[in-house]
Amino acid sequence: MSETQVVTRFAPSPTGFLHIGGARTALFNWLFARGRGGRFLLRIEDTDRARSTPEATAAILTGLRWLGLDWDGDPVSQFERAPRHAEVAHQMLASGHAYKCFATQDEIETFREAARAENRSTLFQSPWRDADPASHPDAPFVIRLKAPREGVTVIEDAVQGRVTIGNDQLDDMVMLRSDGTPTYMLAVVVDDHDMGVTHVIRGDDHLNNAARQMQIYHAMGWPVPIWAHIPLIHGPDGKKLSKRHGALGVEEYRAMGYPAAAMRNYLARLGWSHGDDEFFTDAQAQAWFGLEGIGRSAARFDFRKLENLSGQHLAAMEDAALLHELKAFLDATGQPALSARQEAGLAEALPLLKGGFKTFPQLLEKAHFVLAERPIVPDEKAAQALDNVSRGILSELTPHLQNASWDRNALEAAVKQLAEGHGTTLGKLAAPLRAALAGRTVSPSVFDMMLVIGRDETLARLADTRG
Ligand code: GLU
Repeated sequence: MSETQVVTRFAPSPTGFLHIGGARTALFNWLFARGRGGRFLLRIEDTDRARSTPEATAAILTGLRWLGLDWDGDPVSQFERAPRHAEVAHQMLASGHAYKCFATQDEIETFREAARAENRSTLFQSPWRDADPASHPDAPFVIRLKAPREGVTVIEDAVQGRVTIGNDQLDDMVMLRSDGTPTYMLAVVVDDHDMGVTHVIRGDDHLNNAARQMQIYHAMGWPVPIWAHIPLIHGPDGKKLSKRHGALGVEEYRAMGYPAAAMRNYLARLGWSHGDDEFFTDAQAQAWFGLEGIGRSAARFDFRKLENLSGQHLAAMEDAALLHELKAFLDATGQPALSARQEAGLAEALPLLKGGFKTFPQLLEKAHFVLAERPIVPDEKAAQALDNVSRGILSELTPHLQNASWDRNALEAAVKQLAEGHGTTLGKLAAPLRAALAGRTVSPSVFDMMLVIGRDETLARLADTRG
């Protein structure tokens, strides 16, 4: 391992699903590490025991796996590292960077009330900060950071630029509670340090925490990682992304039938850019991704863009990969698996369908003609095209098709001849023919369908329409 190896991490709190914002954060960290031969680590911030169920953690791992964001090593449990966090708090105590505070909740409240009445800052100033240990009572205590009171704390953020916070705005934060458990602020710093994290890319809702975390780094004499606080994702209306906007978890996007490659591409563009590039591969994203390309304003979620990218990725995918992902989609959405017949038909039909769908459900709809079993039951719209007159004309098609050689020109000539004999056009006859063959109003061309399903199946479907 070289000394300068990049180490990033994704540190979600298990909430029961992988939030789309979290997914984007994970992606940025993954791209940054992978593009630099670095390591991408996963830490589950599971100190809130009520919320951190095994299911909630599993949901995050499932989301990351689906997105294809592989992490190095085993996920780290923050909760399990509590003894190490306590050890560091005691180390700071020993070095004079922290102190035991015996103030009770009542005393803290009294302090605040007095401060409010006198119009002073309500940030608690503990009387124990400089107390002689000899005067310590035998009572419960918390360990507080002895934070600098003068001067400023400066963060050189790779996205936000220089952020300066007056130390008079930061109190002596609690690092270890009276029950010996660490606070979040301490745990994050100790974990990032111990995991060797060099770059912290996370939502800018954590920018305020960074100033406090910086003070712990300084107290411990640890190197400070490079921070990049990225703007949050907003809904199409410009407001913070919320339930109101629908689809918050990545599993919902999976269920809508977007392939993971498109999701990665789209999420990468949410707040990061590389020139005018919109459509790109993972290899390109890894090569291009850098903190300098991250913008300072909130990105807006745009379903149309996602869908367009999805269409492009699906069109670019190798047939085998596409089939593989389609099967995973069916499985994830609880739909029946493809039969061998359906799979073979689909493999044959794919070249015709390519470019004509943007999601897996759209692919399934267009591929209905190879997936459905006889008798083909037309949907409502298709049924309208199959009126009695059209049925009559179609029945005359059978003898022509029985003798035609099975290639596009011959098929087209046969249908055209029949149409003209009835004073109509090939175009007009296509609708009932499509309804008979596909049971849908949207499908590949009727001749393409005939070529894929073959003569016997075509004739059988035509015969079925006669009831
Ligand atoms: N667990 C925090 C969250 O889910 C992230 C903490 C961090 O990235 O430093 O928002």
